[in-house]
Amino acid sequence: MIDKSAVSILVVDDEPFMLKLNMRALANLGYTTVTTCEGAVRALEAIDCAANPPDLILMDLNMPDVDGLEFVRHLVERGYPGSLILVSGEDERMLQAAQRLVQAHQITSLGYLRKPVKPEMLAALLEKWKPAVSTEHWSPLELSKTARIQKTYSAEEVHAAIANGELVNYYQPKVSLLTGHVVGVESLARWQHPADGMVFPDQFIGVAEANGLICSLTRGVIVGALVDARSWQQESGLALSVAINVSMNDLGSLDFADYVAGEAAAAGVPPKDVTLEVTESRLVQDLRVPLEVLARLRLKRFRISIDDFGTGHSSLAQLRDMPFDELKIDRGFVHRAWADETVRAIFDASLMLAKQLGMQTVTEGVEDRADWDFVRRTGCDFAQGYFIARPMPAKSLHAWIEDWDERALLITQKLAKARETRVT
Ligand code: C2E
Ligand code: CA
Ligand code: CA
Repeated sequence: MIDKSAVSILVVDDEPFMLKLNMRALANLGYTTVTTCEGAVRALEAIDCAANPPDLILMDLNMPDVDGLEFVRHLVERGYPGSLILVSGEDERMLQAAQRLVQAHQITSLGYLRKPVKPEMLAALLEKWKPAVSTEHWSPLELSKTARIQKTYSAEEVHAAIANGELVNYYQPKVSLLTGHVVGVESLARWQHPADGMVFPDQFIGVAEANGLICSLTRGVIVGALVDARSWQQESGLALSVAINVSMNDLGSLDFADYVAGEAAAAGVPPKDVTLEVTESRLVQDLRVPLEVLARLRLKRFRISIDDFGTGHSSLAQLRDMPFDELKIDRGFVHRAWADETVRAIFDASLMLAKQLGMQTVTEGVEDRADWDFVRRTGCDFAQGYFIARPMPAKSLHAWIEDWDERALLITQKLAKARETRVT
């Protein structure tokens, strides 16, 4: 049970009247450790002088000096560990966008409130408050700014990692939404750094792409994935398709299709069991070579997938120009789509588009049971996400599949039972 009077709350608004109103509403709900600040500048001063950060900030989005979004940025710089509630007279979509930004900054958002604030809505959001997990990054005077920035690696370091075989493939399962069975895996690169431990792709794929290293990285991933696919088949009898991420730079060399075909043949993996996932993270001016390479891969019966659909340059123009077999709906349009009308509309449109073009669909970012129940109802073909499994080393896959088959059976049985009880 939380002692409401001990939760420290900071209310920030440029209107003194609103400050009074919100303070009274909080007091009526039992929250009495409340500080109010007129405007973001004063709020930041107060934060920097205090020994501890507030547990919760109730913040107006529209303020004349430093607006709410700028204020959030200052909180991020200080490593704010607490929670936030946004308050504004702006429309629903603006508030949703602001909330998404807060979440993208890894600040816990309890939700937003339209002005004038209704006490029952405020109470409902406050119910969600939980103490911060850790305050170790909190640094009121921006001292932690550099310490928290992720380490960046040089081209030489990435080059050495590739040459020394420090990159390994992890695999994230992909399951059929119709049967619940595992149908394949996506290969995701990991760097087992001798000193820094596990390094994730966002810290080295960009460096590799910008420095002419991505083609050798991709080739390593392809060889590893084909060897693993072959051994799942031979040692465990698992016929899994394997998806490999390729960058536009890979598709810029005309011999890429022949290279992939040669490696697949050497490993004894049929092309129909290999999917190449394409993301266009930057605008490519001359599409002639990538188009030819993709078309040739498709002629050889490899599967081609458009990744992160709806983001970056993964767009309608690509769909028009390239013969994709599969469309992966980006996780930004999947996770919590059931709770958000805008996200849901984009999800539905992507799905419809794929169906009309005769493509199979994969939903990424199925993170929890609610996402899973939602995607199962949508008619999408396959799903991937933390609810099903996190990426894992090749050797863990067999045991995971046994576990999953049991879990999937339980979920479907529970569903069937629930339906039965509803009917009777
Ligand atoms: P991606 O191709 O969109 O891969 C999916 C990413 O989402 C993976 O991150 C995966 O771990 C993560 N993910 C999976 N399920 C969930 C979920 O339910 N919730 C959330 N929040 N995330 C989920 P990862 O492994 O860090 O990879 C990031 C990106 O790096 C990949 O995005 C891909 O674009 C790129 N990448 C990874 N491996 C390679 C590679 O071998 N070659 C190239 N060119 N790019 C790669
Ligand atoms: Ca991918
Ligand atoms: Ca993706």
